[in-house]
Amino acid sequence: MAPVIIDGKKVATDVKARVAQRVAALEARGVKPGLAVILVGDDPASRSYVEMKERDCSEVGIRSFDVRLPEGTAQGDLDALVEQFNADPAVHGILVQLPLPSGLDAERVIARIAPEKDVDGFHPASIGRLVRGLPALHACTPEGVMELLRAYGIDPKGKRAVVVGRSVIVGKPMALLLLQADATVTVCHSKTEDLPAVCREADILVAAIGRARMIDERYVKPGAVVIDVGINRVESGLVGDVDFDAVAPIASAITPVPGGVGPMTRAMLMANTVAAAEEVSR
Ligand code: NDP
Repeated sequence: MAPVIIDGKKVATDVKARVAQRVAALEARGVKPGLAVILVGDDPASRSYVEMKERDCSEVGIRSFDVRLPEGTAQGDLDALVEQFNADPAVHGILVQLPLPSGLDAERVIARIAPEKDVDGFHPASIGRLVRGLPALHACTPEGVMELLRAYGIDPKGKRAVVVGRSVIVGKPMALLLLQADATVTVCHSKTEDLPAVCREADILVAAIGRARMIDERYVKPGAVVIDVGINRVESGLVGDVDFDAVAPIASAITPVPGGVGPMTRAMLMANTVAAAEEVSR
């Protein structure tokens, strides 16, 4: 049977429509949600991500406060800017576009962000709260995956989930969110032995590796749900970590690249920002 192709573009559009309604409800109470995005240096990829975030903000009615800082910005000046946004009641979310130019300490600046404004979900307090199962702002990409599963009625409860990748921005929070949703979770990485065999145990397989088309049919149990977080630039364009053509015939559901997880990350940033604004204006 042909797999369900999980349409991240459509789900992201729905998420943003709901965010726009929540923004309107806040505005009716005199609160305009605001997102501050700080970009240091002029890396073209980072610049285009920031521009896309600005477009998303204007689409859903969030006010964006954007600051572009030059490559040679001192750590102290960056820290001071974060503190300024921490203290600004018009700003509900703060995002520092990563990676930072060399010489700047990303850990230090992330730790400066007020946890209630940490819409990227990378602050140690946000991750600690996730570990403890307390309400928190969650990292946008794994939260976007959870939203895709919800939208397609895929309940992780009791299922075997395997996450390949253990980064702080994707793999680890992904595993914790699946655990919170009552899946039985295995986290794999570059030292995992016999990765195909471990992956074949998965009812839900999440690939967050950064290796073009690495996950082929040898890694997938027939009927599994396959979520491809990977974004890899190859000669033919953008491809995921999953070999879509090889895996789609045996999966029950699968995300394409592009058009799967990618649009969800941006949508969840908008959702996190409106949630942060709702929280302070209760
Ligand atoms: P990282 O490089 O930080 O982490 C990659 C992980 O994959 C590591 O844990 C690494 O293991 C593991 N890994 C690498 N090679 C292998 C291998 N051969 N076998 C098993 N595991 C391996 O990447 P990110 O988590 O930041 O990103 C992963 C992918 O997701 C990238 O393609 C990135 O572009 C994409 N991405 C997509 C987003 C979206 O919006 N859709 C958002 C963020 C990322 P180890 O820890 O042992 O080194």
